[in-house]
Amino acid sequence: ALTETTPSTTASWELISRAHRVMPGGLLGSYAMPSAVETVISHGDGSRIFDVDGKSYIDYILGSGPMIVGHCHPRVVAALAKQASRGTQFYTLSDTAIEFAERLVDSIPCAEHVKLTSSGAESTFYAMRVSRAATGRDKILKFKGAYHGHHDYAMTGSGMSTAGTPSAIDQTLLTATYNDIEGTVATIEANASELAAVIVEPIQRSTPPRPGFLEALREVTTRHGIVLIFDEMVTGFRVHLEGGQGLYGITPDLATYGKAIGGGLALAALAGRADLMDHLSPRRQDKSGYVYMSGTLNGNPLAAAAGIATLDVLQEPGAFTRLEDISQRLRTGLERVLGDAGVTAQVLGQGAMAAVLLAEGDPHDPLTAAASDPALRAKLDAEMIGRGILVNLPAKFYVSTAHNENDIDETLTAFAESIASATK
Ligand code: PMP
Repeated sequence: ALTETTPSTTASWELISRAHRVMPGGLLGSYAMPSAVETVISHGDGSRIFDVDGKSYIDYILGSGPMIVGHCHPRVVAALAKQASRGTQFYTLSDTAIEFAERLVDSIPCAEHVKLTSSGAESTFYAMRVSRAATGRDKILKFKGAYHGHHDYAMTGSGMSTAGTPSAIDQTLLTATYNDIEGTVATIEANASELAAVIVEPIQRSTPPRPGFLEALREVTTRHGIVLIFDEMVTGFRVHLEGGQGLYGITPDLATYGKAIGGGLALAALAGRADLMDHLSPRRQDKSGYVYMSGTLNGNPLAAAAGIATLDVLQEPGAFTRLEDISQRLRTGLERVLGDAGVTAQVLGQGAMAAVLLAEGDPHDPLTAAASDPALRAKLDAEMIGRGILVNLPAKFYVSTAHNENDIDETLTAFAESIASATK
């Protein structure tokens, strides 16, 4: 049974009702757990998190991606403790922030220079602003259904509706269909003189790029002097140590990072070609091209310390290969369980993530992901969480270096039971 305890008597439900009294919808952001299994987390350890009622979960949400080395990794905890004792915020340059910036430049193919921010949305916002400054053009092309953060310039065309964005902003955005090579190239060609940038996730949500798609974007943007931005928030350090750029061998002009680079602290980055990034320098000669950027916590040393320690763990020889192997064990197992149950499905994913599509069809077609049975996914989500596996099935499974074979096997057993229960 999903809920053996009466919800109103648990510590979680007491806290949830307090949350409703002080937060709209009783939520931090837009994510809500299925209400039958909604719970409040107390702490995490490795691949697991624990709710305030003492129930343990194998965690595949991983803080929406950042906890790629698991919760409370000893090296991250030690780095945080050390930095906390040295000071947590200076605003001025710090040795920690410089070291972290160097690590990103050394690790990211397109990164000649980087700027640190506190959230992914800020990074995509600045990527767009820099592109406009560098090209003298206003428009940005993005792909339908792509999410690049919550700001006005990124929400239009995202397929997620929000009230409150100025209608004039719609005119700064063009949209195309991910993986539609001809249609996208034609739209870019037809609007080239007005286009500052094309922003794309190398893997859009769970949809992988069709062979030739990223290559075509690279070619047409180069030909027209349009900035190609890869949003590597999810793919960075997760689908490959060099992100989507490394996995597909395409180097964008700018790239945005967040999630995994910060080890769970508020840390994100904009990286790219030095001549473009130079627009962010208040010391640049051409003052007319100067792009203002600020943020009290930019390069926050506590966050940078967590970032360095996280990259230390991930870049240790063999660590990423092991992470990929564990994730592959999950993908193969999910496929087997779905096949045994006779459910129409396909399992996608690269590196340290997996996605379950409950639909047939070409995985490169974004309509396939869109068709993935929402009712069944929601049911499975609740069944899994009820069995102590924290997933967001409508999104994806994130895997960490802390997950081991036992975690995966336990997950697959719960998945088989969940399917049996959700489809009966
Ligand atoms: N781009 C992508 C691809 C994302 O997945 C996200 C976050 N889910 C963002 C941008 C925004 O990042 P943040 O939530 O840190 O602002």
